Amino acid sequence: MRHYVGGGFDASGVPSPIVDPVTGRTVGAVPEASRELVDRAVAAARAALRGPWAAWSQAERSRLLHRIADGIEARFEEFTAAECSDAGKPRELASTVDIPRAVANFRFYADLAAGRSERSWQTTTPDGRGALNYTVRKPLGVVAVVSPWNLPLLLLTWKVAPALATGNTVVAKPSELTPGTACLLAEVMAEAGVPAGVFNLVHGRGPDAAGRWLTEHPGVDAVAFTGASRTGAEIMRAAAARLAPVSFELGGKNAGLVFADADLEEAVAGTLRSAFTHSGQVCLCTERVYVERPVLDAFAAALAAGAKELSGYGPMVSAAHRDKVLGHLERAVADGGEVLAGGGVPRFGDERDGGFWVEPTVLAGLPEDHPAVREEIFGPVVHLAPFDTEEEALALANAGPYGLAATVWTGDVRRAHRVAPALDVGVAWVNTWNLRDLRTPFGGVKASGIGREGGDHSLDFFSEPMNVCVKL
Ligand code: NAD
Repeated sequence: MRHYVGGGFDASGVPSPIVDPVTGRTVGAVPEASRELVDRAVAAARAALRGPWAAWSQAERSRLLHRIADGIEARFEEFTAAECSDAGKPRELASTVDIPRAVANFRFYADLAAGRSERSWQTTTPDGRGALNYTVRKPLGVVAVVSPWNLPLLLLTWKVAPALATGNTVVAKPSELTPGTACLLAEVMAEAGVPAGVFNLVHGRGPDAAGRWLTEHPGVDAVAFTGASRTGAEIMRAAAARLAPVSFELGGKNAGLVFADADLEEAVAGTLRSAFTHSGQVCLCTERVYVERPVLDAFAAALAAGAKELSGYGPMVSAAHRDKVLGHLERAVADGGEVLAGGGVPRFGDERDGGFWVEPTVLAGLPEDHPAVREEIFGPVVHLAPFDTEEEALALANAGPYGLAATVWTGDVRRAHRVAPALDVGVAWVNTWNLRDLRTPFGGVKASGIGREGGDHSLDFFSEPMNVCVKL
């Protein structure tokens, strides 16, 4: 594993172990960037802003993004294998979601940016000659991209693609737990003809390490971050000193509402997906489900049965994260929570017993202020509770500090349109989950984020609109 700075690969730095979550075995190492290397990466990105890249047309940048997409596709198996071994992802997930979406991110922003136009205004003036106002879009400059471990390549490219499409230069820092696909991406960038310094990659941890040094760097003009809310607060403080703009996609404690008029079979299947995809390690996963009382028992029984039958799921990303999830479960049980399914560590009788596994778990009976119901667990754990009225369902869903996503299961079209917009979240799915159209606004409210990604929102964040006024 190597850094990529100013168009050159660099393996300097203290190696930090990479552990396969499936078995708990150390399978490699990633070098920790020194502060000096971070400085060099920012300097290279700054220099590249003044280099040939500045003169590239939109069409040239879009063609480059397509070449990067082609490069990922050409090494699809390598990318899939790296994502699986770093993150413990089942191959089925990495090969159908993570890697194809990374390709799609580059293609989507290549085409969207190529087709963008800006507005102009004809302004009347007292002398009758008028003026013409038009908008020029400029890159922000050097952009830091800091990304998490749960969807390593997907979330990294979701920011890098629009940043490059709009003419910025990038210094990226992936999660120290999952650096593999970012290393491959740097190789693809080099092969695709990205000019030296336009894309830079540094590895390392967050606090008092590469993450911190990068986000507080005076040479960084903006920070795009996906990760935990408390990390967002720290990065915001670091960026505040120089008033650098931030785009944040943060944590969640997403609710699902199941109304008695829903197709219960669909609601159960959808909730199994929304709670347990990637073992609950997707920011959009449902961790609280509120069920209208008449169907609670039937829903709970079916969900618990479904959870017990799940197979092919993956482990937690690390021993520390597994311990955090199990700590929540222990406390939930100690405080009288009912375990309807799972609740423990699966036993395989093979090398996987050294890995970081947690069973898909369905809890019930905890009060709303219990940590397992209030705090983001980010694991395969969902809590069920009843509600009696639509108002109560909304109040329960909207309580708490987060506001990322929600699901609503109902057969009543009027209710769907009443309830979904009344949810305090960035995205509400009705009778589905995680159905994504890359043109739509994506992000969270409250402690779940600042700003929106997706479609024009990302292109707007990564560029500065400027007004030129010409007196005629
Ligand atoms: P994290 O905040 O611990 O780490 C994310 C990244 O930030 C890593 O690269 C890490 O090294 C870096 N970092 C950590 N501390 C830092 C600091 N002080 N300064 C600069 N950088 C720092 O998050 P994680 O554990 O990797 O990811 C899980 C979290 O991400 C969950 O809370 C999840 O909800 C959230 N997430 C949100 C979205 C979204 O779209 N809203 C998507 C995925 C994950």
